[in-house]
Amino acid sequence: MTEFNIIEKYFNIKQNKRPDVVLGIGDDAAILECPPGQQLLLTTDTLVENTHFFSYTDPYTIGYRSLAVNLSDLAAMGATPAWALLSLVLSEFNDDWLTNFSAGFFNLLKQYQMNLIGGNLAKGPLSITVQVAGFVSKHQALVRHGAKVGDYIFVTGKIGEAHAELINHQSFLTITPRIKEGIALRTIAHSCIDISDGLLADLTHILEASHVGAHIQLEKIPVSAELSWEAAITGGEDYELCFTVPENKINLINFDCTCIGRIEAKSGLRIFNHEKLISIEKQGWQHFC
Ligand code: ADP
Ligand code: MG
Repeated sequence: MTEFNIIEKYFNIKQNKRPDVVLGIGDDAAILECPPGQQLLLTTDTLVENTHFFSYTDPYTIGYRSLAVNLSDLAAMGATPAWALLSLVLSEFNDDWLTNFSAGFFNLLKQYQMNLIGGNLAKGPLSITVQVAGFVSKHQALVRHGAKVGDYIFVTGKIGEAHAELINHQSFLTITPRIKEGIALRTIAHSCIDISDGLLADLTHILEASHVGAHIQLEKIPVSAELSWEAAITGGEDYELCFTVPENKINLINFDCTCIGRIEAKSGLRIFNHEKLISIEKQGWQHFC
């Protein structure tokens, strides 16, 4: 299989062509049309074998996940996904692996009416880099730096589920990128982040970017039954959203989420367990530690 054949067989497959894709896979670069009045949002994430997935992780999951983690970032910004680029480094040619990887990737891509518009292929230690692009109307993107004193802090889904799966060495939970929720929050939330490094670490990013502090109540955080609070809120890879909403907009939230605390003027994050202030050592996942 030549590089060209691999691209043709597994990636340049039939897609419902978006009207904003003038030229997709096949030339030196894609040509794209941005909708008027919209802002373009771009993000990228790399998955590396033995860092982000195991050698035995099934390729369908890797394909799905490599796109899902990127969509989670678009969700956190309130963006509508549009396009993706895929850079693959493969150690060998493996038809079964590529077939399943491609199926996982395109399955999710289709769910959001996205198009794969290009990428790259190289030989080396297995890693997958995906870039995604999305749109938001001008000034409606959700940001980390917008939290205001008095905002209520919310999370979607359950916290620590992925971490629980990981320590049990089971397969990865399927990530459901919170795109729908992110879009609904555009005109409601003051700030938003996706939880990739753990709730405490990621909420702290909002607090620092917004120059505010907060308190949260441990007993309100939706956590898997079998997990300790500490493990749940410091373990990464939840890909849920954490966001802040002013009091007068709370009734506009139209999806399931849980209020876990409130933004305060005093800097730092205070964690209460039934009125008792507690301290937690570990903050969250970090590379190079
Ligand atoms: P170039 O050598 O000019 O960089 P390539 O030969 O690498 O181009 O790629 C040919 C075309 O195939 C380009 O349009 C590129 O975007 C696309 N492409 C390459 N790898 C992938 C991939 N893994 N998935 C989707 N498209 C790809
Ligand atoms: Mg070229």
